[in-house]
Amino acid sequence: MRPIVAGSAGVGMMAINNSPRCPKCQKTMERGHIPDRGRNQVFQSGWSHGEAERQRFFGGIKFRPKEQLPLTAFRCPSCGYVELYAPPG
Ligand SMILES: [Zn+2]
Repeated sequence: MRPIVAGSAGVGMMAINNSPRCPKCQKTMERGHIPDRGRNQVFQSGWSHGEAERQRFFGGIKFRPKEQLPLTAFRCPSCGYVELYAPPG
């Protein structure tokens, strides 16, 4: 099988050969992603190592953009089950 190379360079591009099947009802799952709404822009949610650490003065949690793996979300159209993948970029 040939890998699918989506788009050009940039965050969130990756290759997953096949859409997985739903573990509950065996339907082919739809590929998607989890948008993360910032103030002016929408980003793709990523996976980060370890536990979330609170930022003491600025609120929110510590964020290390270089360590993020973009998350691909597969959703079952039949039962709604969502599975997340964070393959290396
Ligand atoms: Zn399902």
